[in-house]
Amino acid sequence: MSVVGFDLGNLQSVIAVARNRGIDVICNEVSNRATPSLVSFGFKQRFLGESAKTQEIGNFKNTVGSLKRLAGRRLDDPEIVGNEVNYVTAELAEVDGQVGAAVNFLGESRSFSNVQLLAMFLGKLKETASHELKIPVSDCVITVPGWFTEIQRRAVLDAAQIVGLNCLRLVNDLAAASLGYGITKTDLPEDKPRNVAFVDIGYSSYSTAIVSFVKGQLTVRGTAYDIHFGGRAFDQVIVEKLAEHFKEKFKIDVFSNKKALIRLRAAAERCKKMLSANPQAPVNIESIMDDKDVSAIVNRADFEDWASHLFTRTELTLAKALENSGMAVSDIDAVEIVGGSTRIPAIKATISKFFNKEISTTLNQDEAISRGAALQCAMLSPAFKVRDFRVQDIITYPIKLQWAQTPEDEDTEIIAFNRNNSLPSTKILTFNRSKPFLLEAYYAYPEELPTGISSWIGQYNIKDVEPVNGGPAEVKVKVKINIHGVLSVIGAYTVEEKEFEEEVKLKDDKTKEGEGKGEGEGGEEKKEIRKVKKVVKVRDHNVVSITSSLARNIIDRYIEEESQMAANDKLIIATEAAKNALEEYGYDMRDKIMGPLSDYIDPAIKERFADDLNAVVDWIYDEGDDVHKSVYLEKLEGLKKVGGPVVERFRESEELARADRQLRAVC
Ligand code: ATP
Ligand code: MG
Repeated sequence: MSVVGFDLGNLQSVIAVARNRGIDVICNEVSNRATPSLVSFGFKQRFLGESAKTQEIGNFKNTVGSLKRLAGRRLDDPEIVGNEVNYVTAELAEVDGQVGAAVNFLGESRSFSNVQLLAMFLGKLKETASHELKIPVSDCVITVPGWFTEIQRRAVLDAAQIVGLNCLRLVNDLAAASLGYGITKTDLPEDKPRNVAFVDIGYSSYSTAIVSFVKGQLTVRGTAYDIHFGGRAFDQVIVEKLAEHFKEKFKIDVFSNKKALIRLRAAAERCKKMLSANPQAPVNIESIMDDKDVSAIVNRADFEDWASHLFTRTELTLAKALENSGMAVSDIDAVEIVGGSTRIPAIKATISKFFNKEISTTLNQDEAISRGAALQCAMLSPAFKVRDFRVQDIITYPIKLQWAQTPEDEDTEIIAFNRNNSLPSTKILTFNRSKPFLLEAYYAYPEELPTGISSWIGQYNIKDVEPVNGGPAEVKVKVKINIHGVLSVIGAYTVEEKEFEEEVKLKDDKTKEGEGKGEGEGGEEKKEIRKVKKVVKVRDHNVVSITSSLARNIIDRYIEEESQMAANDKLIIATEAAKNALEEYGYDMRDKIMGPLSDYIDPAIKERFADDLNAVVDWIYDEGDDVHKSVYLEKLEGLKKVGGPVVERFRESEELARADRQLRAVC
């Protein structure tokens, strides 16, 4: 059974696995410990992860990033129209009521929804993990930002399902990092908690969590998010300044040329990273557009000045998290940072100044979240034994339930899960009803939600409710925020107060007064039948739920399409391998029959065989460039029929010579 944690980043994703009694971050096919969160489409196949990145600039129209930010969104969502559209280089499109991308794939115009795109990428991560572990991967834990809402979480779960991943938990990024922190600390206090502030600033967003640790348990006390704050905002500052500079100096407008803009963005990111370690960084882009080469030098001081509005904003989220946790700076014992953008010196300085503390470096900035996710998976998986550590996370947005007014009750809503309610958590609500009724769940404060996310969570139809004894039934509804942070109604039933006859044991008076005699030692035991009232469940009700998960038929269609695309990718890779093998054989054999194998081939066929080998190589470069795998295999087999015996004769003669040498040596 696989135990895998995926840190799903908007720019790059990290995979950690539990094995050999420890947690390892694994490398992908090009030995990188993080995989670009990109998918791209080609004429013959898809390119996922690293291979999408390699072709990004040349194939930007068919490359889709921001997979995490697109999850659960619609095309007309203000967040998409006003923001994300600037970061996705492919054209965005509406697919099955969701935002997706329109690309050219296999020579045709195709569109894929965000859930499909995310599934493709998760499928790639799954394949990388399973290649490394050498077992099929299914059980996993996937991380999401704590600010993800119901619809976004369900989109990730749907995507995981499409590629056969059994997500044991969607865990909030910082809960995962905190788990990794807590489980390795052997000196956690028994009673007075150690309070740690965790700060994650990545590519597109910024999260802070204040977490209390005691031995064997962590409790998230408060969180805060700035969902439009991260590395790409800093890159954008550099892009805008340099674009201005290039306009003046080189008379070019990079914003008018998508490819030029993509190249400038990449250069700006490199420059920004360099400025984290150096006072100055050069930017050089050859032939950016209109055949012009551009260059500039950026000083760290300039960058800090250009981005000063972002640096001042850094503090706000820290203050909010502290406020939400009901703590003061003086309550914080340690500060831990993760995410690539916390490498920016001015950010580090702001965090350190805010908490009036040196930043600790217990965690690996790039890997802590994936490690925590793998640990969480190990704890949930029956296949692995891990020291128990309780993760007490909290919900981010209060949730209310609403219903139509009835004569039985005046209220029409209740906050079922309030701020900082623990997660997972179950509540039982009581309704007096004579007929079936509808409940609707909403986020209680829509203004707190990420832009464009609807406050609607789900609708639950409580069926088959009937009056009881001529009056309304007392219906209990069990509502749960589950381990993924997703809401569901897990049951509904009618209860009734019923009278029961119960046998009650009585002791005689002497014993009651207590004469120092223990039970059985004295006092006669008496029994009495009493009538007692008890509330009991009398019937269950069906609950029909409408949620923001995709409909079953859409998921099934996506599963089918995904498996076809995956099979096609596999076939293309296998075909490419067969072609390379044939080409290699052609070149190699041609040289060898003229060289070391020359004496072992029948002179009558030698010339003809050489011609055949040459012809195959020429054919590959010509009409044989793109044919079925079987054609390459057949041709290779045909050549080997002639070449095989030659190689065999050579080998036999070599063997004989070796045996002869050995014999001589012995004699
Ligand atoms: P998100 O958390 O938004 O989903 P992510 O998890 O993919 O994104 P990370 O891998 O944590 O993001 O961080 C990537 C960001 O960190 C990029 O914007 C990158 O430019 C930035 N970054 C990485 N190294 C440095 C550095 N040395 N100096 C400044 N920024 C850096
Ligand atoms: Mg991240």
